[in-house]
Amino acid sequence: MNVKNIEKKMIRHINTLLNEGSLPDLPDELKEIEGFSDIDQDIRSLRQNINSIGTGNLSEKISGTGYFFGIIKNLQATLRNFMWQTKAISMGNFNYKVEFLGEFSEAFNVMAKKLETTINEVKDAQALFELIFKTIPDATVIMAYDNLELFDCNHAFTSIFKCSKSYLYGKYVNDMLFPDDKLAEEQFKKSFECPQSSQNLSLKLSLINGFSFYALFSSAIIHIMDKKYVLTVIKDITEMKRMEMEIKRLMQIDPLTQLYNRFKIDDALISEAQRTKGDDAVFSIIIFDIDDFKSINDNHGHIVGDEILKSISQIVKDNIRSSDIAGRWGGEEFIIILQNTNSEKGFVLAEQLRLEIEKHNFTQVGKVTASFGIAQSDATVDSTAIVSNADKAMYEAKKSGKNKTIVYNGGALS
Ligand code: GH3
Ligand code: MG
Ligand code: MG
Repeated sequence: MNVKNIEKKMIRHINTLLNEGSLPDLPDELKEIEGFSDIDQDIRSLRQNINSIGTGNLSEKISGTGYFFGIIKNLQATLRNFMWQTKAISMGNFNYKVEFLGEFSEAFNVMAKKLETTINEVKDAQALFELIFKTIPDATVIMAYDNLELFDCNHAFTSIFKCSKSYLYGKYVNDMLFPDDKLAEEQFKKSFECPQSSQNLSLKLSLINGFSFYALFSSAIIHIMDKKYVLTVIKDITEMKRMEMEIKRLMQIDPLTQLYNRFKIDDALISEAQRTKGDDAVFSIIIFDIDDFKSINDNHGHIVGDEILKSISQIVKDNIRSSDIAGRWGGEEFIIILQNTNSEKGFVLAEQLRLEIEKHNFTQVGKVTASFGIAQSDATVDSTAIVSNADKAMYEAKKSGKNKTIVYNGGALS
């Protein structure tokens, strides 16, 4: 082979080593050229080392020497350092910065800073949630959405159960809370299936420990680590309910006599008229007024007068049926709504009351009487007209001598 051919072969071989994917063997005639085998070996090692780094293997030992090997060793060390810092960030350690990769370092550091800020914000939000969850005075529980198993609960929740959190772990909502009736059960179920449309439900609940209370119940769906949960807040409103019922009761009751007041009687008259409208059912009204009450007050004083009003009210309560609704209509005037009762039966009841009052021995005063009027509902079922008819009958009783019962009878009085 002449010299020109050898040179050509060397150039082709080096070119193949540098540019081709497959590695050529070193031809024998080139092995004989002094130092060529070393160049061949160095290029092969460089190829191998660059390929390792390029495919992400940073642990390969680079044993060559010289300028290129120095650069590759440096690159390997830099990338190892970068990998180590990335790992530190992934573990939440933001103390280090990458300073050795120029523009790339800058972009990386900005990204790491943003990540640190975001993680801190998430941590703050989580701490705030935990603080609210712990300190909220209402019983709060988080349950798995799919099976309503308890996931976490706050102190207020364990307090109503009077037990520790560990006792409640593993329990499902149906093991802990029991709605008191069918309606409460339906609302209860719906509040977990569709929390957003069932907020502030008021229902009566019982607990495993038998404690029963009125609850204001609100739920929401939340996500923790990509899992769906139901967060439920339960406010014990038993006392509020009790007060509400008491206020309602007081609004309907006359404080002196403890009979219903005019408010309630007006309502009851309207309901009774509606109930019997278009029906064969009738109802009657008794109105009675204490006779000569002014002179009782004048002779014995207002306090004695009040006592008589109370005693007469007690006589009424003791003698009416559970379906009758008795109230104080005004000063010393009373009204009784008799459901499903015609005026004949009403007359019997009125007479019974009149005689009970007449025979009662009132403290300090002795004998007191009252005059009674009765009217029965007619086809028009106009409650105002029926009251007015009963009133007319009562005044007729007054006019015709007092201490008697008169029935209004379609215009005539008997
Ligand atoms: P009549 O037989 O015609 O019904 O005569 P009366 O004296 O009962 O009727 P009048 O309307 O003249 O007097 C009613 C009295 O009832 C006057 C009023 O002071 C008294 N009165 C009304 N409310 C109360 C009350 O709450 N307590 C007391 N003590 N007296 C009352
Ligand atoms: Mg009177
Ligand atoms: Mg009167």
